[in-house]
Amino acid sequence: MRRFQVAMPKSVPGAVAASGDDFDETKFLAGGTDLLAEIKDHTQFPDVLVNLKSIPGLKEIKVSDSGVEIGALVTLSELASHKEIKRSWPALVEAIGHAASPQIRNVGTVGGNLCQRVRCWYYRHDEYPCLKKGGQICYAQQGENEYHSVFGNRICAAPHPSSTAPVLIAYGAQVEIHGPEGARTIDLEDFFHSPEDDVTQENILTSKEVVTKITLDRANTSKHSAYCEARERDAFDWSLCGATVNLQMDGDSVKRARVVLSAIAPTPVRRKDLEKVLVESGVGSGALEKIAKLSIRGARPLEQNEYKLTLVKAMLKRAILKAVKG
Ligand SMILES: Cc1cc2nc3c(=O)[nH]c(=O)nc-3n(C[C@H](O)[C@H](O)[C@H](O)COP(=O)(O)OP(=O)(O)OC[C@H]3O[C@@H](n4cnc5c(N)ncnc54)[C@H](O)[C@@H]3O)c2cc1C
Repeated sequence: MRRFQVAMPKSVPGAVAASGDDFDETKFLAGGTDLLAEIKDHTQFPDVLVNLKSIPGLKEIKVSDSGVEIGALVTLSELASHKEIKRSWPALVEAIGHAASPQIRNVGTVGGNLCQRVRCWYYRHDEYPCLKKGGQICYAQQGENEYHSVFGNRICAAPHPSSTAPVLIAYGAQVEIHGPEGARTIDLEDFFHSPEDDVTQENILTSKEVVTKITLDRANTSKHSAYCEARERDAFDWSLCGATVNLQMDGDSVKRARVVLSAIAPTPVRRKDLEKVLVESGVGSGALEKIAKLSIRGARPLEQNEYKLTLVKAMLKRAILKAVKG
């Protein structure tokens, strides 16, 4: 392992400053469940780790009348067991409950979960210089691709691994980012990069920018929200396909809908076309069939992962029915 230094900043500006020009390669460290594995696997070679855990204030969940602010260092377990999150954002609790394992959820943070790198075995193996590591090839295109993307996979086929991102997007979350120019807040929906934007990273952060909090607005939540997913194992595994549905309903009709698919593309995928059908056609069995059929339009399965198309349709229908029930 290459030697690296560790910075222990006491503030967010201090963390940004510690990622300054003095070092070639800086990485922010949160729970370390992903980053430390990457360092040991020789896929990341930082000169300095900026340990965010030494900064006070990033571990708080602040509840107000308008919503909730979640510090980037709040662990997945803390988030899923928070009373107000359980009451008002239940699909998030559902998604976290399946993610990783209890031990990883006790250490992994929500900021790290959004910023974690892909789990493609070619990316994670130091002998495969794939596109993400500056190489020339996406080995998954012709290789072992059963867990890979079925949408948006022409350049890089690694699916986005985060279970929280699709649900937070479905709830209209915003993310606060601090960098050398100060702070900015953007919709989480705009946080992720497709391989067409830049194949070497999965989000818009520059190397000196740090995520500090996630904000959820009460106006965007509803008791008619649900997350459903399929995975091979109940623990210590990743989702094969996820569907999040967040509906504002008036009787049987859908006034507003948000639909986000996950683990099937290099980013979480908001499906405005499906949202439109939900609002226009409702949630009767005819509409559900129409939505399921439409959900896989444009998919490009690889040799070993066509089964994911069945999962997309099934998880989506299941999530809609669960959301309607409330
Ligand atoms: C066996 C296994 C199964 C898993 N299954 C799932 C699953 O089903 N669903 C799921 O969502 N995840 C899953 N994970 C991933 C796990 O949830 C993540 O490793 C964890 O959430 C990352 O959080 P962390 O705080 O440990 O991040 P770290 O490892 O500390 O950091 C991860 C990355 O994010 C960057 N980073 C961290 N925090 C910030 C910040 N605030 N601002 C900017 N950059 C930052 C780091 O530099 C690093 O690149 C699994 C992991 C394992 C090992």
